[in-house]
Amino acid sequence: MCGIFGIENHPDAAHLTYLSLFALQHRGQESAGIASVLNGQINSHTGMGITSDVFSDKRIEKLCGTSAIGHVRYSTTGSSHIKNAQPLVSKTRHGALALGHNGNLTNASEIRKNLETKGAIFHSSTDSEAILHLLAHSTGDFDEALPEALKKVEGAYSLVILTGDQMIACRDPHGFRPLVLGKLGNSYVVSSETTALSLVKASYIREIDPGEILFIRQGNLKSVKIPTRPISARCVFELVYFARPDSVVFGKGVQAVRQALGRALAREMKEVKADLVMAVPDSGAPAALGFSRESEIPFEVGLVRSHYISRTFIRPSQALREIAVDLKLSPVSEALKGKRVVLIDDSIVRGTTSRKIARSLREAGAREIHMGITSPPIVSACYYGIDTPKSEALIANQRKLEEIRDFVGVDSLHYLSLEAMLEAAGGSGFCDACFTKNYPTKTPAEVSISQKVGL
Ligand code: SF4
Repeated sequence: MCGIFGIENHPDAAHLTYLSLFALQHRGQESAGIASVLNGQINSHTGMGITSDVFSDKRIEKLCGTSAIGHVRYSTTGSSHIKNAQPLVSKTRHGALALGHNGNLTNASEIRKNLETKGAIFHSSTDSEAILHLLAHSTGDFDEALPEALKKVEGAYSLVILTGDQMIACRDPHGFRPLVLGKLGNSYVVSSETTALSLVKASYIREIDPGEILFIRQGNLKSVKIPTRPISARCVFELVYFARPDSVVFGKGVQAVRQALGRALAREMKEVKADLVMAVPDSGAPAALGFSRESEIPFEVGLVRSHYISRTFIRPSQALREIAVDLKLSPVSEALKGKRVVLIDDSIVRGTTSRKIARSLREAGAREIHMGITSPPIVSACYYGIDTPKSEALIANQRKLEEIRDFVGVDSLHYLSLEAMLEAAGGSGFCDACFTKNYPTKTPAEVSISQKVGL
């Protein structure tokens, strides 16, 4: 998962991009980067770590020009390595280009193999670089070449691209990942989430439509459609877990959706008797509030989260991930002692984090723990840019409900139904493949097989 931002036609383009990356930091902490353009030349800086680690005032000052794009990365394809940090910058027959990508392409390996046989040399292991190579190999001027190139890629992509004389924002025909358009004075701004627009005081105009390419040149817009049929498959997990609650995603306030998820869960958990409702912070908090209002069970803060542990730290191994849970979440014994607790979280992936949390609540004195999850069991991997593990590592793919309950160590475990989740998120047009295995595109394995047999 990643966060992208771009601003065109503004004297403080790089500074505003830098600030926006703080608002999008929850979307990726492995690397950060900014590219700006001055007199047709692209300058860029990327580095490993969070935005504040990567940029100093001096670095920002060097990124001159009136247009800039930025990227924060959490790797889902390609390793966590500086050569995969974005924006990717390349010299093509269209001149210098910088590209920031959020999402995963499902046919990137096939594109790569095909282009490599034609002599292309890839410099990173990301799927995003395939788009740059397709552009380099396309015919016509840039505005014609981009829709043609994008017609060949499949999967999830929200993109922001900087050329010598314009900025481009586009979203795949399924609209998997969010991308919004805003305005700041005479400048257009694009961002993964509206929270970054609010931060730089830009007003929200609209979403970039699924399948739309928006060319932005000196404050003017030109909208073009990718020549394929858009079939809506917005990632429902953005609303359940990933986006910030102060954002509007897919036209919906994230906080309001999470409260609605909590209310729906409370209706489905009517039989549970408890003294308090609490959240696994931070994403569970609005849902716990919704649950509390619906059930009239008081809301309490039972866990405190430390914000000073970066995700890069917890990635390397299961052992370190488990220690990191202790560092990250600390129970409030006074609130928990002797209490029957409803514990709200957005999802269970491997189950190990939930198990550690349940154990720490018991050690802090909780008498009963009834766990409520505001999504159905995750049974399958995501191929569209969210870092879920392979299906074999997903606990709900391996164990029955009672077995998961016993593994986690809670008195009862309740998942929100698929219907209730989709209704709270706003109805239809969503991807729910990690819960249902109904993938809206060919999976990478299916693409690979169909290519091998020449389909
Ligand atoms: S598979 Fe799941 S996480 Fe991935 S895009 Fe679909 S709903 Fe989102």
